[in-house]
Amino acid sequence: MSCAICGGSESGTLFDIPYLRPFRVDRCSTCGVAVTVPALDVKEISRYYPSTYYGKGGRKFIRLIESLVHLSRLRRAQRIQRYAPQGRILDVGCGGRTYFLESLHDLGWEVYGNELTDFPEFKELEGRGFRFQIRDFLACEYPEKTFDAVVFWHVLEHLPRTVEAVRKARGMLRTGGMLVLALPNRSSLQALWAGPHWFHLDIPRHYYHFTLETMKDLLIRQGFEIFYVSHFSFEQDLFAWIQSIYNKMGIRHNLLYNLLRNRHARIYAMSPALILQSLIVLSLLPAVGLASVILFFVDIVRRRGGSMEIYARKTAHGPNP
Ligand SMILES: [Zn+2]
Repeated sequence: MSCAICGGSESGTLFDIPYLRPFRVDRCSTCGVAVTVPALDVKEISRYYPSTYYGKGGRKFIRLIESLVHLSRLRRAQRIQRYAPQGRILDVGCGGRTYFLESLHDLGWEVYGNELTDFPEFKELEGRGFRFQIRDFLACEYPEKTFDAVVFWHVLEHLPRTVEAVRKARGMLRTGGMLVLALPNRSSLQALWAGPHWFHLDIPRHYYHFTLETMKDLLIRQGFEIFYVSHFSFEQDLFAWIQSIYNKMGIRHNLLYNLLRNRHARIYAMSPALILQSLIVLSLLPAVGLASVILFFVDIVRRRGGSMEIYARKTAHGPNP
């Protein structure tokens, strides 16, 4: 099979996923992108997005965490505002939690969302001028050069056809318009250390696992100019360290993450054995938390956090052949 990102024909296995067989992660020998194998088709992957994945009313976590999420969405909108002051913006895979869209709206943006699921929250927002298309992103119908900004916030890695998605986003952007990508960084310290136990691997929902270099190459080939990269994320990376450490210790995969989700959004039910493991997780939290804070600051200094944000502009010249 040739690589869907670069067309290269050789690959090798990086690691198997011991807690979710038969999945494994391969790496393209030409461009370096890592790939989830087997890749599931649309019907098969939908089993991995049950209603509990989104929670109720788009809210996934216990109240305290959800307040922090709210704050982080406001900061996300403000960061975007820094590089593109206003205009028309599309959030691809916007989800049912609408804090980010509302923050953009409050900052003066004309806001468009795209989702596969028609969340009830969208109805009320449509009354306030928000616009949604409920379908696969590649099937969306927006005229050429509609947007001043297109955002994929931890979404691009969930799409099976990356190159087509980037190309489509480019077509929708006006020349000079901004593409914003936030995604896990496979060459981060936490990814390399944790291997198959890395929190951000999210098998099988993530089809591809990019490094900054693989994503930069792809964007440049597709007619973008990268003007800013953030190498870490407060909202993502600290927790990813904590959870990856527990995962690698042999505790049930993503148990703390499951505990922090509200009762409508649990990934799996809590058995007596898991309650015992939960007590171990909580008793080790001061030590694991401290280690994670230290590692998080090492990431900041080394500019290699678990996730990256890439801000790019559409150039006047088209994609390279
Ligand atoms: Zn490749």
